[in-house]
Amino acid sequence: MGVNFRLPGPTPLPPAVLEAMQRPMIPHRGPALKSLYRSILLRLREIHRTDGDVFVWPASGSAGWEAAIVNLLSPGDPVLAVVTGDFGERFARVAEAFKLDVRRLDVEWGRAAEPEQIRAALAAHPDVKAVLLTHNETSTGVTNPLAETSAIVREHGALVVVDAVSSAGGLPLLTDEWGLDFVMSGSQKAWMCPPGLMIAAVGRRAWSAYETASYPRFFWDLESAREFAAEGMTPTTSPLTLLYALDAALDMILEEGVEETWQRHAELGEFTRTGVEGIGLELFADRRYASDTVTAIALPEYISAKSVLVLMRERHAIELQGGQGHLSDRMVRIGHMGWVTASDLEHVIEGLDDVASPLGIPRATGAASRTG
Ligand SMILES: *Cc1c(COP(=O)(O)O)cnc(C)c1O
Repeated sequence: MGVNFRLPGPTPLPPAVLEAMQRPMIPHRGPALKSLYRSILLRLREIHRTDGDVFVWPASGSAGWEAAIVNLLSPGDPVLAVVTGDFGERFARVAEAFKLDVRRLDVEWGRAAEPEQIRAALAAHPDVKAVLLTHNETSTGVTNPLAETSAIVREHGALVVVDAVSSAGGLPLLTDEWGLDFVMSGSQKAWMCPPGLMIAAVGRRAWSAYETASYPRFFWDLESAREFAAEGMTPTTSPLTLLYALDAALDMILEEGVEETWQRHAELGEFTRTGVEGIGLELFADRRYASDTVTAIALPEYISAKSVLVLMRERHAIELQGGQGHLSDRMVRIGHMGWVTASDLEHVIEGLDDVASPLGIPRATGAASRTG
């Protein structure tokens, strides 16, 4: 058996995706590319649950932060950055780098930004033009209540800008129904593709904001993405091999069913949490908002995440990830997004159960509480 690759991104590639990447090059302005890209965009709209635009760029997910800012805002615009972890922090940093007037709502890591906190922050900063949100905070294993939050932000009249990098394709994400204006993600998370594509959904209010946004832009220019997409193309040479991969992955998601895919993630999330707790380990996230694509385990103070990762790799051929930012050595994260089954996760729990004793992690009394 190969490696049980359980990072919260990049995620394992299904055989159909690997195979698709062997397709030969095609002219990037030719008919085959046009029908491929058109069909990819149609399926992405379906999975994003939007009738609005969706575009794809060759880039990593982080590019979505910059793309949102330069297309929807102008220097000095007041924005509210809701920071629930390391990715929210990075989004806020990008906003600062672009000289937006950044107001912050800082939420303790491991907790979600509750709708009432958002309401209070907007009352304190009534002039903000956009609210920068992280849907699923991969660094803490928390899914923020986006539907409720978005309703409050909309009522306030600000743009809803969403980092959905580790949720899109895996967690319910109802772009139109929830009123999300800009939703961006990256191919190497729940999309089951290699790193290298940034995907963004752009709603009607985002297009109005685009009209007055004054940042200089070239590569990320939405109008140029729209003009080329109308012809079935991307503005620059299309990342063909990655589009082949995405083509195969989207087929898999639609074959399983979008809602069925969400349901599978919900079940695997619960399965992982129950398993982790069953062997006496502690979840980092507030359980009410625990993520169904990534589970963060809070380690006892005297255990280093690095030692857990090494033992899991050497004894069980399981790849997990540590924490981020100041918690990098204090946390172990299990990715369960994209191409993943209950049996993959059962092996992770068994492996953790096995390495816990040599590391001196206190065990659940009578830890016969295996999942399964
Ligand atoms: C992974 C991730 C990113 C960054 O994506 P890159 O592809 O590494 O640029 C941003 N936000 C969230 C929530 C993520 O999980």
